[in-house]
Amino acid sequence: MSDRYASFAHTGPGRALVRRLGLPDPPRLRRYRPGDPLAHGPVRLGAAPGGRLVEPLAALLHPAGVQISDPSEPRDASPNGRDGDGRMPRQAALLYDATGITDSAGLRALFDFFHPLARALHPSGRVVVFGTPPESCGTPREATAQRALEGLTRSIGKEFGRGSTAQLVYVAPGAERAVESTLRFLLSGRSAYVSGQVIRISPAEVPEVDWNRPLDGRIALVTGAARGIGAKVAEVLAADGAQVVALDVPAAGDALAEVANAVGGTAVQLDLTTPDAPLRLADHLADRHGRLDVLVHNAGITRDKTLGRMTPDRWDSVLEVNLTSQERINEVLLDRGLIPRGGRLIGVSSIAGIAGNRGQTNYATSKAGVIGLVHSMAPLLAERGITVNAVAPGFIETRMTARMPMMLREAGRRMNSLAQGGLPVDVAQTIAWFASPGSAGVTGNVVRVCGQSLLGA
Ligand code: NAD
Repeated sequence: MSDRYASFAHTGPGRALVRRLGLPDPPRLRRYRPGDPLAHGPVRLGAAPGGRLVEPLAALLHPAGVQISDPSEPRDASPNGRDGDGRMPRQAALLYDATGITDSAGLRALFDFFHPLARALHPSGRVVVFGTPPESCGTPREATAQRALEGLTRSIGKEFGRGSTAQLVYVAPGAERAVESTLRFLLSGRSAYVSGQVIRISPAEVPEVDWNRPLDGRIALVTGAARGIGAKVAEVLAADGAQVVALDVPAAGDALAEVANAVGGTAVQLDLTTPDAPLRLADHLADRHGRLDVLVHNAGITRDKTLGRMTPDRWDSVLEVNLTSQERINEVLLDRGLIPRGGRLIGVSSIAGIAGNRGQTNYATSKAGVIGLVHSMAPLLAERGITVNAVAPGFIETRMTARMPMMLREAGRRMNSLAQGGLPVDVAQTIAWFASPGSAGVTGNVVRVCGQSLLGA
């Protein structure tokens, strides 16, 4: 469904009116297109003294074709925020290694770095702060200072505007070499609708990755692939090189076949809630492919009613599709050894699972359960070299959200730092980042794709 308000605000007169009335001003987001450079301009890389990530980061940026700007360049941005006074070239990204900060007094280094650069970021620019996970810090003071980084990044996400995003990446000691897939994702237009997130990276062996086709040779199953977000996930994973198995209910057979054909994959018609679904799926994968590398649990339903009016079947069907069927399928595929080392389990939660939502007790319970699944399974699967993560979409422009009442839909679109709804491709690209072989150290994460929604923030 088209966002008529955003289309109007992007016209000359629309922009003038929106600004004069102080209305939400949705920026045009820079989304990934094949062949795009990683960063559309120079990138400023800074570090607090003693940071352990600044060198590994520089070593990744150079070969990726990213130009690191010279910190001795004049640091004052033009006060009116425009180019052209010759004092400050616009930066595509501001990257800061904060791992050297060991107490609260040291947080001043953040101000010293970001203050002079605050107005020097390109539209759709990126801010990424790297820290040490508080639970891995040596002293309470260091843990306190590292935890404080969240407040900075979330506020920058709300403050810098013009389509820019800000994230905090906690890199565990020993995981310095595992950051590349995350750095690439966050710098690129693939993360256009991800902002205000905290991502954790654990130590892991990362294989050689072809960054143009990271999923070459991988088998990926996408549930609920006949339409909406699932269809886009199938498309993006296929574009990244995966052989896609697209699954949906038999009633969606025609649409499913279309998606599967379009991505050069295969279709499986199966209702995930039938008792024999996990076994049938396992047999199918064993016969056709011998394994499954990437499993995207995208199928989901809503059956909204306030709790007092909810019927048992509405409760049961939502819990069954959105959560229990995932557990049953995971169990069977893992028991049969069909998911090898390097495997990726990816769930689709929702900000409703974080914030709760009136009329969605069943849905929010199921989506919070997906988060529980990620957190409880991650340590167990780490022993087998398998990662498990989830996306939590906010307002995404799909048939699901097109059916919302108009006022609610408008509120959903505007109540985030980017003042617009996301697109299915934004969710799909985030899933593709989790799926990458380069993301071996990315596990136990729930990343919101919500434009930094105010709900549950
Ligand atoms: P959608 O309704 O357009 O697509 C869901 C697909 O899942 C459909 O093709 C449907 O046939 C399939 N499906 C449902 N039950 C199934 C079953 N028993 N077996 C197999 N397939 C089944 O929904 P969407 O908007 O594309 O959402 C995809 C996922 O993203 C869902 O899990 C949803 O809860 C989640 N999500 C969406 C939004 C949003 O704004 N659209 C926000 C947060 C989370």
